[in-house]
Amino acid sequence: MRKKIVAANWKMNMTQGEASAFVGTFLLEIGESRDVEVVLVPPFTAIAAVNAALEHAQHIKVGAQNMHWERSGAFTGEISPAMLRDLFVRYVVLGHSERRTLFGETDEIVNRKVRAAHEAMLRPILCVGESLEQRERGDVEKVLSTQLRGSLAGLSARELQETVIAYEPVWAIGTGKTATAEQAQEAHAFIRQVLGEISEEATADKIRIQYGGSVKPDNARTLMSQPDIDGALVGGASLDPRSFALIVQGAGEK
Ligand code: PEP
Repeated sequence: MRKKIVAANWKMNMTQGEASAFVGTFLLEIGESRDVEVVLVPPFTAIAAVNAALEHAQHIKVGAQNMHWERSGAFTGEISPAMLRDLFVRYVVLGHSERRTLFGETDEIVNRKVRAAHEAMLRPILCVGESLEQRERGDVEKVLSTQLRGSLAGLSARELQETVIAYEPVWAIGTGKTATAEQAQEAHAFIRQVLGEISEEATADKIRIQYGGSVKPDNARTLMSQPDIDGALVGGASLDPRSFALIVQGAGEK
């Protein structure tokens, strides 16, 4: 049985003060339930503030939005895996479509980062997904298969199990257009099939696959009740503590 995982990707939003205030309200809204794993993914500059605000809620995990693959060195402006560990970060989002399209990240670069994350005992949340053009061309499976095989190359079965995949159709990110539950389930089932080919079916069965792309309180439950949808990666709607709490609660409902 895969435990659902819901993550808040705040992108380039939230000062330290705003992040602390978010956590205060979110903890009141979310209650005591531990059925769903929750990950807050602030910008680097607000990680320490989120940690401090979560002092009495250690079951909520903290993630980062990116990192470099090297341990240290002359990489101005970059953050290393060890620096994230130093901040008690447990997850790191890698290969987000904004990194791929705006910052030129290829599957090879993403793969270096994924492997470096595992070496540092960080769990990657690996994002994959097709653009609208690729979907209309009928290339969804080809794109997903290439991204998965490229980004996950060289991982052991244990490392694969500890990787979270986020299926994020690019056309649904920040656009208000959500994939239907059927479209999302179809893509997730395909992703699990490819994961089985990369390793084996028993391993693929244990890997959690989140859906991301305009997830909101009113569509979260339907999406996450699909058999291969094991949670959500939430952008815009995660900036409001009440709406993010409703999404987490939606993940916990059967
Ligand atoms: C994201 O960027 O990971 C995302 C899913 O954004 P949104 O929820 O705003 O579509």
